Amino acid sequence: MKVKKTDQTPSGDAVLSGLHICIVGGGVVGLVGGIFLRQYGFRVTILERDTTLKTIGAGIQLHPNAVRVLQDLGIYEKIRSKSVVPPSIILKEYTTGEILHNQDLLEPARKYGAPVLTLHRGDLRGLLYDGAVAEGVDVRHGVSIDLGDIDLVNGVVKLSGQSEVLRADLIIGADGAHSVVREALAGRKDEAVPHGKVVNRILIEEKAIAAVPSLRYLVEKPNIIVWLGPECQAVTYVLDGTFNIAFTWPSSLDPNDMFFGPQPVDLDEFRSRLDNWEPELRDLVGLAEHSLRWMLFEPIVDDKETPWVDTRGKFCIVGDAAHRVLPYLAQGAAIGIESIALLAHLLAKVEDRGQIKDCLDIYQRLRKERTSQISRATLKNGRNWQMADGPLKEERNRVFLTEVPTAGFPNLLADPFFQEWLWGYDASKAADEAWSRYKPVREGKELKGKG
Ligand SMILES: Cc1cc2nc3c(=O)[nH]c(=O)nc-3n(C[C@H](O)[C@H](O)[C@H](O)COP(=O)(O)OP(=O)(O)OC[C@H]3O[C@@H](n4cnc5c(N)ncnc54)[C@H](O)[C@@H]3O)c2cc1C
Repeated sequence: MKVKKTDQTPSGDAVLSGLHICIVGGGVVGLVGGIFLRQYGFRVTILERDTTLKTIGAGIQLHPNAVRVLQDLGIYEKIRSKSVVPPSIILKEYTTGEILHNQDLLEPARKYGAPVLTLHRGDLRGLLYDGAVAEGVDVRHGVSIDLGDIDLVNGVVKLSGQSEVLRADLIIGADGAHSVVREALAGRKDEAVPHGKVVNRILIEEKAIAAVPSLRYLVEKPNIIVWLGPECQAVTYVLDGTFNIAFTWPSSLDPNDMFFGPQPVDLDEFRSRLDNWEPELRDLVGLAEHSLRWMLFEPIVDDKETPWVDTRGKFCIVGDAAHRVLPYLAQGAAIGIESIALLAHLLAKVEDRGQIKDCLDIYQRLRKERTSQISRATLKNGRNWQMADGPLKEERNRVFLTEVPTAGFPNLLADPFFQEWLWGYDASKAADEAWSRYKPVREGKELKGKG
């Protein structure tokens, strides 16, 4: 489906073109939202805290449920040209390097009409930013919104340090894991609870790996390879010219040891802990020159009571601001992209301002349901992949080595039922179906009101 305004002609199009939507946060989710909403004819402003477009971090996997959305953005070919299409996900035993499971990704790419991609976060964000600006989105850098700037009663945000008050018909908080829009809606700050793991991220030049004969296979065939260790895992894949390692590693559960944002890793100390890992993996980490680590926090799974939408239909939250998950299924950005796509498709159908609140309520109901299930599945996959040495792990390895994936397979991405539910999701179809259920109810209410 193409999302250009001309391809979908909601009868309220003329009304919509006058509406102004403000997005707080120009990360992946905010930028995807900006492009969609602009293509639908809304006036869009994105307020981004960073003074320039910068992305710290390394690679990102984008799974078919996200790539299908990106295919509709009009800049997919550019994204694709910066990406790698991994043919398989290979799971390995951490000490021996034995291949436990080899999951083909090319057949699912055909089945779901979209491949798995790996690419550098900076490339993705840069292309989305260019795409948003080209569509006419007003992206304002260096604008940080504080809690006190959000006025729920009057439906406005004040721009910090400036006298300007920004009025919009809808303000979407896409301001990430420590969202102030979320805090304003909930009336409280979420307590950050350490998950007991950090992720050490390493980038190595592809040519440095190709120069080592025993490691060359890693870049010759760009598979996603995961070494499964006890309470830890090393996810590796090729980017455009570089090689990405995301090493999940146990860390303190003590809140006093909490840190936010990246910290440098003492690589010598880290390497000294890998003595019993497969020598190839150790050689690979041996090539690293520096590494940064991020602390993981327990996911946010909201019940019905925690609002993602305000009572007047002027504010809502999307992406990590609404549903931060752990990275064990590589789905955080993907479900943020699903959420903003669904929201944009719903908003495109609105025929009068009064319907915006209903639209947000539909969005909230649909997305809480799906994202909470994905969050639980993510935890389960993490437990399956990071089992301690012992009989349970041996049984898991036996299943990997001998059984054809079916429901409950310990690699959820290869469980055919879960995979279809996860990767087969179509945000625009979900929006169409929800709207077709809503519309007659709304029209019925309107008729009653007149009668
Ligand atoms: C180790 C790790 C690996 C991961 N791997 C994957 C993966 O392979 N695939 C995947 O799909 N997901 C992955 N994720 C998850 C993914 O990174 C996030 O889900 C995604 O970045 C969320 O995007 P977002 O736009 O909602 O938030 P963010 O990326 O956090 O963007 C929020 C933006 O808002 C801005 N902002 C914040 N506060 C304010 C404010 N007050 N005022 C103005 N601007 C503000 C920020 O500067 C930022 O630009 C991973 C996460 C981790 C931790």
